[in-house]
Amino acid sequence: MHVIIIGAGIIGLTTAWQLLQDGHRVTVIERNPRVGEGTSFANGAQLSYSYVAPMASKSVLGSLPKWLFSAGSPVRYIPSADPGEWAWLLRFLADCNDARAAASTAKLLALAALSRTRLHAMIEATGIEFHHARNGKLVIQSTRESQDAAETQMRLQAAMGSTQTALTAAECIALEPGLESVAHRLVGGIHTPDEEVGDCHALCAGLHATLEATGTTFLLGTEGRLAMNGQRVTAVDTPGGTIEADLYILASGVAGRAMGQQAGLSVPILPIRGYSISAPVIASNRAPVRSITDTARKTVYAPLGNRLRAAGFAEIGGHDSRHLTARAEALHADLQAIFPGACANTDLQPWAGLRPATPSGVPVIGPTRVSNLMLNLGQGALGFTLACGSAALLADLIAGRRPSINAADYRG
Ligand SMILES: Cc1cc2nc3c(=O)[nH]c(=O)nc-3n(C[C@H](O)[C@H](O)[C@H](O)COP(=O)(O)OP(=O)(O)OC[C@H]3O[C@@H](n4cnc5c(N)ncnc54)[C@H](O)[C@@H]3O)c2cc1C
Repeated sequence: MHVIIIGAGIIGLTTAWQLLQDGHRVTVIERNPRVGEGTSFANGAQLSYSYVAPMASKSVLGSLPKWLFSAGSPVRYIPSADPGEWAWLLRFLADCNDARAAASTAKLLALAALSRTRLHAMIEATGIEFHHARNGKLVIQSTRESQDAAETQMRLQAAMGSTQTALTAAECIALEPGLESVAHRLVGGIHTPDEEVGDCHALCAGLHATLEATGTTFLLGTEGRLAMNGQRVTAVDTPGGTIEADLYILASGVAGRAMGQQAGLSVPILPIRGYSISAPVIASNRAPVRSITDTARKTVYAPLGNRLRAAGFAEIGGHDSRHLTARAEALHADLQAIFPGACANTDLQPWAGLRPATPSGVPVIGPTRVSNLMLNLGQGALGFTLACGSAALLADLIAGRRPSINAADYRG
């Protein structure tokens, strides 16, 4: 079968890889001149298989006033007149309760577990180098309240198979001596020993090379648009001509909502902007060995080869590039405060990207009412983590195999 995938981020590329394993002929259409240059470019680098708590939770409701009115908050909401955004927010608010958050967590954990297995198989088959390491993750807390909430989430996830340990402040510093500088505000942490990191963009580039060498066609620098005839996609229109296939897959990240509309579908995806900086490590004894998430600052740190990446912020609305310098400076200040002397102050690589978020945090994977159109969208803050599982689930559905997880959980 000939399959066209629109989007060459981590979701489109892992989907192409899985479909190639099933013997399909695959064409990938990407509007950027190179792969992995959308949201998959410089994300937080976490393969966060056990730490999947969705953003929609009861605690969010109490934080809303702070997000609306504080310019310095790491989470920021600037309202717009877009009715799609309001519909998304209403669904998000409806998901902000314990029962829905627990259900979403269970779905995300199942997809994450499948992702881990499939990523490892893909690495073994391809040998792609992307600074992949199983170095564990430590999530640090600065208030008793947040440590208690984290322990509650840990117990919920333990019942679903995650192995995590609650640590005291002293135990956190014993594990990561670089954290001594924030000892005064450390209350405790959650340690997950088998979490992983990797460079998502390097994995995208490696997949591109592997896929191209094994027969996948890439149309880069090519914007695609769905051509429809009733409830069927007839082709993808591009500036270079029309391309037909048996099956079409949207893996177009934050453009998924607009592309879905071309087929008459309403896909609830909102862009949530985040930022990162990657700084050269100059004193490895002061840098973390593990991924660190600083809950108070909502910032994650990941060692990637000879760099340390800091990522954070969640902004809904007001999307423009004006904030990049200020946000990058804030991330750099946080990095210097938590790991003083670990990194150089020059050659910093700032970046901003848009998380393709669904209200519940659970992605939309599978068939649609358009008979030859499938979706692999909305992995949000966890797209790198969930990519291989999402691709495997979709490949199973296309092949008519029974997936190892419940496909109905990801139908949107
Ligand atoms: C600051 C930040 C930190 C993050 N940290 C992590 C993390 O630590 N761990 C994790 O798991 N996830 C993380 N994420 C989320 C993760 O990066 C995303 O979920 C993931 O990259 C989404 O991949 P994607 O392939 O869906 O989207 P993209 O990478 O954006 O790819 C979609 C592609 O589709 C193309 N496209 C769109 N429309 C068209 C069209 N009409 N024609 C042709 N091409 C088109 C785009 O150009 C783009 O290249 C983070 C995100 C951000 C912003």
